[in-house]
Amino acid sequence: ASVCTLKKPEHIYTSPHTDVQIPDMTLIDFLKDKSKDYDDRIATVCAETGEEMRYGELWAKVGSVASALVKLGIGLGSTVGLVSPNCPEFVICFLATAATGATITTVNSLYTPAEISRQLEDSGASAVIYHPTTAAVVLGATQMLPPGSVKHMISTHEAVNSGDLALLTLEADDGLAYPKNLQVDLASDVLVLPYSSGTTGVPKGVELTNRCIVCNLQQVSHPKVVFHNPDGVSVLFSVVPMFHIYGMVACLMLSILTGSKSVTFHKFDPQLFIKSMVQYKPTVMHLVPPILNFLVQSPKVLPEYMASMRTIVCGAASVGDVIVKQVHDKFGSGILFQEGFGMTELSPGAHLTIMGECTPGSCGPPLSNTMTKLVHVETKETLGPDDGPGEICIKGPQLMKGYRNNPEATAATIDADGWLYTGDIGRVDSDGNLFIIDRLKELIKVKGFQVAPAELENLLKDCPGVADSAVIGVKHDKLGEAPLAYIVKNPKHESITEEHIQKYIADRLSTHKHLAGGVVFLDAIPKGSTGKILRKELKQMAESDSSN
Ligand code: AMP
Repeated sequence: ASVCTLKKPEHIYTSPHTDVQIPDMTLIDFLKDKSKDYDDRIATVCAETGEEMRYGELWAKVGSVASALVKLGIGLGSTVGLVSPNCPEFVICFLATAATGATITTVNSLYTPAEISRQLEDSGASAVIYHPTTAAVVLGATQMLPPGSVKHMISTHEAVNSGDLALLTLEADDGLAYPKNLQVDLASDVLVLPYSSGTTGVPKGVELTNRCIVCNLQQVSHPKVVFHNPDGVSVLFSVVPMFHIYGMVACLMLSILTGSKSVTFHKFDPQLFIKSMVQYKPTVMHLVPPILNFLVQSPKVLPEYMASMRTIVCGAASVGDVIVKQVHDKFGSGILFQEGFGMTELSPGAHLTIMGECTPGSCGPPLSNTMTKLVHVETKETLGPDDGPGEICIKGPQLMKGYRNNPEATAATIDADGWLYTGDIGRVDSDGNLFIIDRLKELIKVKGFQVAPAELENLLKDCPGVADSAVIGVKHDKLGEAPLAYIVKNPKHESITEEHIQKYIADRLSTHKHLAGGVVFLDAIPKGSTGKILRKELKQMAESDSSN
């Protein structure tokens, strides 16, 4: 087995893999080059409609749409919002926008108007590309913004709102304005701007350059890590959302890089998923734990539906060691199971188990060009192999450039030596495999989606009857984790109830942020001398309440 090396005396874990070269290319040139021989292969299939698109057609559409976007004034320096569930048009619009040199800020298509408008405003988006199913919320979002800030609204299908453009018309462009010699600064101009709350506070724009993304693609496509697809047989199920960095890199980009057929799903709909397994015979799936649990536990998923499966990759939240055995018990030991550890700020991959060498429960060793160390959570001193668990710190060329317009948050996350403090607690075994044990940071992960407690607490400040609040994550059978709110009532509003609080949040935020962990009333929120919420105490309180 490949083991990673522990450099002494610094106690830094290095990758067992050879370093990869990061080509001086934009993402578009990189992907075009990798897929240049696949024109006749099927690139995407929409699971909802069955519509197929070949690689040749995909790149032709990207060319026309990019040219049309340039004619609208979109290019280097612009930011474009993309609000869409996974579909082939997401792929076209994403690549076309990237080809113009603009920054793409991908937005959760299940967001409410207020959530969308916040991201569009913070990112400074001047155009929005939206899926017709999101037309009403996107229109609502733009109406909350200063007039004129969003200049173009483009639908991924037919336009729903009057005055909006449609992708279908952009595809008819002559392609003449396609930018040929874009002067992109690969390490500095921002390619994608997904939002993440990081270790603390509200969601922030994570600046990822062409260099970060191309680098991470090279790292995960190391021959020991990813299955390459020389005979073109890979069928990849794209169900994790592409607005999130995991789906964006694994389902949109890696799929093109390996010349795979990507079957796109708007959302995880068990019935459609099972039907599609029978129809398309998947060979690769990138999943989050709740979907993997479903596959293992549902009697409707028959083992023969997985007969074609070669690789299952899981990440974004705690996977657990039991499930690996369950996968092999139900579907056979021929399936290669891989777990990864990543973070939006890491483009996203840092650790991934080696193909065929998975140690259940672990995320494997660091990827190529990546170093890991564990530090004491308070002193931040580097820990040795026998010092027990610590905060995971990562260093490598895939680290984000920084948080948009937020140098303080960037400096609090990446130190002067280039180490990124993940806010996760882990340990490393004697083979160099990383195990994620706990989360130090505030972040809550509901079905793999981020929930930032600060966002809910900020909202609750304005909720009538609430004097103070704190939100933490608690374990949840179906969701993985769920937000739970501790509330201090305003003495004048003693009559407020859990339902009142639940509704207040449900009316304003998307479903995964609802208080599925419940509401608990307290006399006071435990706080430190500087006023910081003592979340650890609340977590202990929640744990002892649930065990009583
Ligand atoms: P995101 O930026 O949304 O990708 O969230 C990153 C966070 O997800 C990490 O900092 C971890 O807290 C969590 N995470 C990612 N991968 C894993 C994993 N394999 N096991 C446990 N937690 C994970």
